[in-house]
Amino acid sequence: MSVKANNNNIETLCIHAGKVKGAHQGALTTPLYQTSTFVFESAEQGARRFAGEEEGYIYTRLGNPTTRELELKMAAMEKMEDAAATATGMAAVSGAVLSFLQAGDHVIVSKAIYGCSFALFNHQLPKFGIEVTFVDMTDDANLLPALKPNTKMLFAETPINPNLEVLDLAKIGAFCLEYDLISIVDSTFMSPVLQTPVDFGINIVIHSATKYLNGHGDVVAGIIVGSAEHIETIKLTILKDIGGTISPHDAWLILRGLKTLPVRMDRHCTNGQKLAEFLEQHPLVSKVYYPGLPSHSGHKYLGKQMRGAGGVVGFELNANLEEGAHFINSVELFSIAVSLGDAESLIQHPASMTHSPYTQEERLAAGISDGLIRISVGLEHADDLIADLNQALNKINEARMVTPSATVLGCS
Ligand SMILES: *Cc1c(COP(=O)(O)O)cnc(C)c1O
Repeated sequence: MSVKANNNNIETLCIHAGKVKGAHQGALTTPLYQTSTFVFESAEQGARRFAGEEEGYIYTRLGNPTTRELELKMAAMEKMEDAAATATGMAAVSGAVLSFLQAGDHVIVSKAIYGCSFALFNHQLPKFGIEVTFVDMTDDANLLPALKPNTKMLFAETPINPNLEVLDLAKIGAFCLEYDLISIVDSTFMSPVLQTPVDFGINIVIHSATKYLNGHGDVVAGIIVGSAEHIETIKLTILKDIGGTISPHDAWLILRGLKTLPVRMDRHCTNGQKLAEFLEQHPLVSKVYYPGLPSHSGHKYLGKQMRGAGGVVGFELNANLEEGAHFINSVELFSIAVSLGDAESLIQHPASMTHSPYTQEERLAAGISDGLIRISVGLEHADDLIADLNQALNKINEARMVTPSATVLGCS
């Protein structure tokens, strides 16, 4: 058997891409450059660096060797030219958007996106004279009617948080190319292991690095990946002048996390599948949202746009709000917490937590009912996680037997 190495497989890139051989005194792992500034050899050198005539570091808000390796590694993993690391995922979302828009511009936005991204588009951008149209992008026929002469950008997220609906990236990419719009996709739920939006013509990819990329629940950070030209604009705008730069220490932790990303995503996907299948057959669960299930609308994109279904599962209980709270309070292995992509399994209630920036009307329009529960499936043994969900579901039944007169209301 002959195996041809190209070193472009993601398992190899996440370990080796972005490294300079022989740099850093030969250190195997990239050192942490915990420094705010860099010393010039002379006044002339300082002037050359500021003028852009000589490569080299100046000041950590503008660039840092540890951060740079993270950026180059992410660019390689997303198969794009360059990247800019940011202080949080929201700094990445707001930064990518603000770098290219100005008063009088119009942006088309998917109506179902991360709660704070929704608040950015709904509350902040209009303050600066930027027009926003929210569109149900699950049907691409809705895109053209939203187009205006001043439309400059399209922003979407897929799979959609928290009911995991999938958008057709090929159709969105083609639409943006045809009408010359900058396309931005938040790919946080997939990581570059499961989805590479550039394959479908998307211009800019965003991640909350807080989630799968770092994967260990000890950092908040973001990353923007795109063409060298777009990233240069972003760095000169949001990093230099607005200042949402990542801490080198956080970049260093994410570099460490990235080495195991493909291994972790593999486990997140197999655990997610097992838990989704368990929940789907449980009488107290009325609906499960997970693209790995044939019953889910996003299932047809598996293998086509997504290389796996990920580790986030949404579901609706056949129970009233009080029973839902009792269920969440009864889990033992799961932690009641927002965020996702950590080794630890997490459980949360979108209507009262991540999606509280929406009004109830906006939530229902985005398909988020009061009875929806979202879990981020961690890296524990799937049997232990299933046993935990099972005992917590049983607590609902036990409570019903104590108070048989309790009315059971569907929450969906
Ligand atoms: C968490 C998240 C964000 C925001 O990232 P932070 O690191 O919390 O600022 C943006 N988009 C999605 C899809 C997320 O899950």
